[in-house]
Amino acid sequence: MKGATLTGRYTEAYNEVMRILIVEDEKKIANFIERGLKEQRYAVDVAMDGEKGSFLADINPYDLIILDVMLPGMDGFSLCRDIRKKKLDVPILMLTAKDKVIDKVRGFEGGADDYLTKPFAFEELLARVGVLLRRRNAALPSVLKVGDLEIDQLKHSVKRGGKEITLTGKEYALIEYLARNAGHVVTRTMISEHVWNEDFDSFSNVVDVYINHLRNKVDKAAKKPLIHSIRGTGYVLKE
Ligand code: CA
Repeated sequence: MKGATLTGRYTEAYNEVMRILIVEDEKKIANFIERGLKEQRYAVDVAMDGEKGSFLADINPYDLIILDVMLPGMDGFSLCRDIRKKKLDVPILMLTAKDKVIDKVRGFEGGADDYLTKPFAFEELLARVGVLLRRRNAALPSVLKVGDLEIDQLKHSVKRGGKEITLTGKEYALIEYLARNAGHVVTRTMISEHVWNEDFDSFSNVVDVYINHLRNKVDKAAKKPLIHSIRGTGYVLKE
């Protein structure tokens, strides 16, 4: 099974699909960052310690991780090295109360992309988040491929076996989200958060309805289906 080349090229309108993990044990600071980022329409998860952060970074495709250095148990430096060792390709912005050069060096050597010293103004954090996300997006190709399915994230066009498929806006957002996570199962909750930017009631079948639309347009005429149901969990796009 081969996953798609994981890319993420976004315009401002795509802010809502960008997902950020905050690893910070100080509740007040974590809440402050979480609130501010959610107001900017980012999807945000918070982990209060390094182990939880490591777990979340493993199972979710984040676009950025904001990582505090001083954490109980596994500290930020260790978690940063751990993430790089696993070859998770995600920008890391480290936060710390320390502003000693030696700590910055340690952070960069561990694989951090940027560094912010506490206390900081939210605007500065936001500016750095923006720079890291833009840099990441500029470095990535804009076409996602899964088998003979091609998704052009700049043109918002989709082809299967070279044939253009016409999709509605939400259908496109859904297939792009599945393709960005190709080979990984995405739950209905993840889909509703990313594609609709809200939590549906767990009994809602909106996601299933849209998956059916996509199956009719993407899989029906093809020999091999790419959209697979994982019973009781969600969906995965794979060859
Ligand atoms: Ca801390």
